[in-house]
Amino acid sequence: MDQRAEDEKYMRMALREAERAFDEGEIPIGCVIVKDGDVIGRGHNQVEMLKDATAHAEILSIGTASGKLENWRLDGATLYVTLEPCPMCAGAILNSRVARVVYGSPDTRFGGCGTTVDVISGNALKRDVKVEGGLLADECLGLLKAFFQKMRLEKGDSGNKGEAGPKAV
Ligand SMILES: [Zn+2]
Repeated sequence: MDQRAEDEKYMRMALREAERAFDEGEIPIGCVIVKDGDVIGRGHNQVEMLKDATAHAEILSIGTASGKLENWRLDGATLYVTLEPCPMCAGAILNSRVARVVYGSPDTRFGGCGTTVDVISGNALKRDVKVEGGLLADECLGLLKAFFQKMRLEKGDSGNKGEAGPKAV
């Protein structure tokens, strides 16, 4: 399998994780981590369920991958995520020594890999992490758009969303 086909395969797995988040009433973002052809970590956004602002798909996936390897160093691993990692997750990616990040949709609001800020390029830790964005971006973004549309409908679209963000259904 060539690199592109392989990347698509794993991004589709990340999309399935994102769909699980969607079904749980979480902002639909999913992630898988692959090393030497094995899926070593996976996760989806669970901020609402865990009531934890750090429970992003990437953080949870890094946790499961480290558990599986019994090693916090994820050298040589590729992290696939449906939305560009935020600055917190980009920092976690550097700390975990993931070698490559492939993301779906850019995050124009809080993207940490170049779209709004860039935590990865020229990082102070001098870690060399390859970042590629835009893989299956339409599908990744489509799921997010569908989610927020559903949330607005369920809230009755009062026009006043406040600060709270989406709640678990
Ligand atoms: Zn994040």
